[in-house]
Amino acid sequence: MQKKKRAGLALTIGAIVVLLGGLGWFLAGIFEGEKPGVDLQPLPEFLTGSQKFTLATSDMKRGLKELDVSVTQEGREITILKKKFPFKGLLNRDGAHMFETEFSIDPSKLNLTQGRADLRVRVWDYSRRSGGDGNLSLVQHKRVVDTVPPAIRAISRLHYINIGGAGLIVYQTSSDSIRSGVFVNDLFFPGFPADKESGEGLHVCYFAIPVNIKPHPEVYLWAKDRAGNLSRARFNHRLRKKRFRTVRVNITDRFLKRILPYFSFYHFSPGENDIEKFLQINKDLRKENAQTFYNLRTKTASEKLWDGAWLRQKNVANMAKFGERRFYYYKGKEIDEEIHLGVDLASLANSDVLAANNGRVIFAGRFGIYGLTLVLDHGQGLASVYSHLSKMTVKPGQEVMKGQVIGITGQTGLAGGDHLHFSVMVSGVFANPIEWWDSHWVQDNITRKLALLDK
Ligand SMILES: [Zn+2]
Repeated sequence: MQKKKRAGLALTIGAIVVLLGGLGWFLAGIFEGEKPGVDLQPLPEFLTGSQKFTLATSDMKRGLKELDVSVTQEGREITILKKKFPFKGLLNRDGAHMFETEFSIDPSKLNLTQGRADLRVRVWDYSRRSGGDGNLSLVQHKRVVDTVPPAIRAISRLHYINIGGAGLIVYQTSSDSIRSGVFVNDLFFPGFPADKESGEGLHVCYFAIPVNIKPHPEVYLWAKDRAGNLSRARFNHRLRKKRFRTVRVNITDRFLKRILPYFSFYHFSPGENDIEKFLQINKDLRKENAQTFYNLRTKTASEKLWDGAWLRQKNVANMAKFGERRFYYYKGKEIDEEIHLGVDLASLANSDVLAANNGRVIFAGRFGIYGLTLVLDHGQGLASVYSHLSKMTVKPGQEVMKGQVIGITGQTGLAGGDHLHFSVMVSGVFANPIEWWDSHWVQDNITRKLALLDK
């Protein structure tokens, strides 16, 4: 009997231990302290229009009980989404543990005003914590409603621009605009603030119509605000067609023998003969160089550095014009076609090269087919280029004055003889230098427009 009693007691204690353990496990389970997971995407700083959001929530322990999404603006709370998940099965084992949904917030439909509006997501689970309310996950995201695009309008009135040439527009934007300028098809020409102090939002923008542009390009003013709203505006402009001559360039073996050693740095495809090497230089290296020139536009100063008509080198013959279409021939056969994007000026060999205007050296060194090259920045996107030099007398970063000797002419790179290849760039796009040398053109198209800023 004694034995039986003791065994029974042991059994009872054992059961109690198991029960207590089970109760502990059960209580720990129903009072679990793990908050539901919440993932809200995207998290934009601004709302500029109807925006779609994805919300993913999960609670792998007791499961999801309730969620609510709302927008609050100046004390007004708008419910966007509310959902209750039923309790299912023993300990909610069959309840919702994961839930994903999409919702949209449309500032105009919700009558939100411009300014701050906060998005709030709350998710509760079925834990018995917090007096039975469950664990709460709260995601709050501050955002600013800005659905008004920036204002932009032209101040200067008439803009006559030659194909291959440049122009200037004076325009005004609202203070929220962070980037503005002119688009010519998909080419962007940035504008620069003309009056940082006054806060009137006046800007200047130099732009160019590429010489090889297709007829009827789209030319318009453009602005973007902090929130990402975009504006475009027309402005009065007339594009004038220009005729550019075509030139036949005969490539001789003697010329190839003379110029190819300079390009020993170039990685030619193996087994290429001289004329194939020439074509690689004339096409591929030229294209690479064009990209490098274009990239220099970001080095420009935001203020105007230049003054008055640009200086043309003294006592020079114009050997090749801007925009001429060159057809290359070898042994009577046409092998290539390129456009000449500068002016070739020849004088005595090893002549002084003068800075076309006041500016700052932004490049000095070897530059592919252009040989030894100097690039001067004149501010607000304008630059001048001096190529095929034999010597440079200025360094990158150095400030130069109009007429200052900056180098000596030569025939480095792809040059048929000693000459200066001179170019003008407008935000990285080559423009006809003839306009900038012409004091009347500068007066009518640039200076007179800049004078609008002084009124
Ligand atoms: Zn040239």
